[in-house]
Amino acid sequence: MVTSNTLKTTKSEEIFAAAQLMMPGGVSSPVRAFKSVGGQPIVFDRVKDAYVWDVDGNQYIDYVGSWGPAICGHAHPDVIAALHSTLEKGTSFGAPCYLENVLAEMVIDAVPSVEMVRFVNSGTEACMAVLRLMRAFTGRDKIIKFEGCYHGHADMFLVKAGSGVATLGLPDSPGVPKTTTADTLTAPYNDLEAVKALFAQYPNSIAGVILEPVVGNAGFIVPDAGFLEGLRLITQENNALLVFDEVMTGFRIAYGGAQQKFGITPDLTTMGKVIGGGLPVGAYGGRKDIMSMVAPAGPMYQAGTLSGNPLAMTAGIKTLELLQRPGAYEHLDRVTKRLVVGLQAAAEATGHDFCTGQISGMFGFFFCTGPVHSFEDAKKADVAKFGRFHRGMLEQGIYLAPSQFEAGFTSLAHTEADIDKTIAAAKTVLAGL
Ligand SMILES: *Cc1c(COP(=O)(O)O)cnc(C)c1O
Repeated sequence: MVTSNTLKTTKSEEIFAAAQLMMPGGVSSPVRAFKSVGGQPIVFDRVKDAYVWDVDGNQYIDYVGSWGPAICGHAHPDVIAALHSTLEKGTSFGAPCYLENVLAEMVIDAVPSVEMVRFVNSGTEACMAVLRLMRAFTGRDKIIKFEGCYHGHADMFLVKAGSGVATLGLPDSPGVPKTTTADTLTAPYNDLEAVKALFAQYPNSIAGVILEPVVGNAGFIVPDAGFLEGLRLITQENNALLVFDEVMTGFRIAYGGAQQKFGITPDLTTMGKVIGGGLPVGAYGGRKDIMSMVAPAGPMYQAGTLSGNPLAMTAGIKTLELLQRPGAYEHLDRVTKRLVVGLQAAAEATGHDFCTGQISGMFGFFFCTGPVHSFEDAKKADVAKFGRFHRGMLEQGIYLAPSQFEAGFTSLAHTEADIDKTIAAAKTVLAGL
């Protein structure tokens, strides 16, 4: 554990300097570059349980969990063993594979809305495909998304898209033609009246509504009482589809995702992160009559060379098996609650405006007074203070997501001792801000 205030990161700095010459920003995904918190990103060497080690040998308690997939703890021995045995049979078939049936059955059993499922390679792919399916099924082109919700990096969704984009201060991205986003309507999160107004303004032209049922890409924001119910009703009244993007919340806030937790069944659901157990997997699924439109059962084209990859299926299957064990979600809830209660108390004791929230092993906090109902509220948070807090926590051996607008994650491997160390570190850092 790092105990000194001066983190030695010589090797990280060398590797990142070289990376910047070869890859844009030195990374393969923007938020990893620490742009919004300042300072150098840490280059990881290995991960295990609740911990990560950097190339300079520093150890950190990890609250990013590879952005969600590491829900059982990093490099869980059962997942690694299953991967070893699948590996012996080869790495890719490009043909039907029995492991797809196994994971499909697990997903269908777990997620209330899912009667059929298609596997893809990322959350972005799942969201792109589900959008095409919404349009194919309804014969309508417009969709409604919410400010601050992220549905991957496809053109049609890069409108008010939260974290990565928000963090970089880009209202949109260059390279996205206006014609591509012309049918993407946006409303503030938790604002049913705005959604009703859009349906009134564009009668019979809106294919559906897509949202993060609990937002994790604008910081952590929960749906107000009645919001999800209201969306279910409005979409039904307008013959439009309701789509939950559960790439982050699926198997995370409950085994059956947000739809199980809140008792609202959408028509379609996208998944990713946890169902890949740390390998590249996405999926979309839902009502059989809608999913039957997907090729080759139906006319809506969507394909993938590596989709349903045996290694990826194996990591997903093992991860879900571990999550089925009694007490898994109780553990996630207990440690995460302990964390946010401790952080809130530490912030109050040191005189900082602070608010926090948590469901199961997903949490967030903002440097502002709460509650935060929307991305507009979230933007009131003190981003500069977050940056100093983030750096201070790194020096104390705590690895938090390097943006005020990202959710945090715990795992089955996080112990109460890890949490208490984290809270103690937070007290020290907050006192010095
Ligand atoms: C991470 C995420 C995505 C994108 O998934 P990738 O695997 O990064 O392409 C889409 N939607 C939500 C809600 C996410 O959290």
